[in-house]
Amino acid sequence: MAEETLFSKIIRREIPADILYQDELVTAFRDIAPQAPTHILIIPNHLIPTTNDVKASDELALGRMMTVAAKLAAEEGIAEDGYRLIMNCNKYGGQEVYHIHLHLVGGKPLGRMIG
Ligand code: C5P
Repeated sequence: MAEETLFSKIIRREIPADILYQDELVTAFRDIAPQAPTHILIIPNHLIPTTNDVKASDELALGRMMTVAAKLAAEEGIAEDGYRLIMNCNKYGGQEVYHIHLHLVGGKPLGRMIG
């Protein structure tokens, strides 16, 4: 079984975090080291270490992560100007916490990453 990370403790509210949204499937909280005016992490409540570990049974939670991202982007007032959704995987992808998380980043021009 995969090792829990500190994100599981955030979900269970055992360590402090600025939680913006939580339901039976996902939790969203402000990144502790924001890279932009809005930087929110949206995570499944159950542990999926990396995107390599995603299974069909995770599809409901993964879909919810997207709808929560859209809802929070609207609430943050960044939907119209735009934002970036990022999920890092493993070493080359720059993943540091092995509980998948969708970064919602916006509130300033982000420049081009690819293309
Ligand atoms: O995608 P990656 O794994 O690199 O991102 C981990 C993110 O988790 C970082 O942006 C980091 O600032 C954030 N983090 C957090 N709260 C913690 C530990 C890490 O928001 N307690």
